Amino acid sequence: MKPIRETIHHLMNRHDFKERYEAMKRDILNDRHVQSFLRGHDVTDAMLNRHLGKLYEFVQQSKHCERCPSLEQCPNLLKGYTPHLIWQGKNIDVQYERCARKVQDDERKKQHSLIRSLFIPRDMLQASFDQLETDDLGRIEAIELANTFASTYEVGKRTKGLYLYGSFGVGKTYLLAAMANELAQRHIASFLVYVPEFVRSLKSSLQTDAFQDTIEYAKQVPVLMLDDLGAELMSSWWRDEVLGPILQYRMLEHLPTCFTSNFDLKRLTHHFAHSQRGEEEQVKAARIIERIVYLATPIEMKGKNRRIEM
Ligand code: ADP
Ligand code: MG
Repeated sequence: MKPIRETIHHLMNRHDFKERYEAMKRDILNDRHVQSFLRGHDVTDAMLNRHLGKLYEFVQQSKHCERCPSLEQCPNLLKGYTPHLIWQGKNIDVQYERCARKVQDDERKKQHSLIRSLFIPRDMLQASFDQLETDDLGRIEAIELANTFASTYEVGKRTKGLYLYGSFGVGKTYLLAAMANELAQRHIASFLVYVPEFVRSLKSSLQTDAFQDTIEYAKQVPVLMLDDLGAELMSSWWRDEVLGPILQYRMLEHLPTCFTSNFDLKRLTHHFAHSQRGEEEQVKAARIIERIVYLATPIEMKGKNRRIEM
């Protein structure tokens, strides 16, 4: 026989347990989500007791969601997932679905992954048409054309890109970035490349796989955006072996390409006709310009230098 002290102790604990269990059960059944879930179902006490664990899990987890601090600080079992009660025949189960914040975050990440860029400042990549100031008359046409392109282009459709030219600081790069973001919202990938740095880096990665991959991507990406063309060190290698084949490929595949430049097409012809070595090759320069004109509509951007203000 067990010593009496031990039995009493055991009973006390059981009694405590039962009380706590009943209190917990009351709390759970008072939860309005649980109440509306159970409403209309023939729920016996035995069933409730059997599924109290699931209901408890639901109440705990959904309480977290009601006081959601942020997605990063989500305390739920599965970060970013919110619980739902479901009936599986006569059984109750908890199912987890992505919460609204997680859905939004996933979408943002997915969109972000659709924009690849090289040597473009990170804050520039935040540009959007919503925040774009349209105070300068000299830029309105460019902004409208850029907006139309980014909001109507469909992959596979024959469309010309834009050749945006104008002086330093009028917002050419900003406009490209806004286009890339709008395209990403429409699930279209783009590759935004700052040309001067691109050319420098290509030289140092010659013959590597990374080099080949980048060139391949530039050829095939749905929308290629070459920023600041004409500001790079011109060499016949860049013109004839890198840029020429990329543009040629995109012409044949009808893939739109956008450019920005400080130069109009006449000055850009001059840029491509003169290499650093002093060679003059008008025909080869003309061929590049022909491809650019085939791929993109030239449009001038005028206005104040927005960098000075800052
Ligand atoms: P560009 O490429 O023509 O030299 P940028 O695109 O770099 O000019 O723009 C210069 C500065 O002005 C950047 O800091 C950019 O964030 C800002 N900017 C440009 N266009 C706009 C705009 N439409 N609305 C608000 N800020 C702009
Ligand atoms: Mg720029």
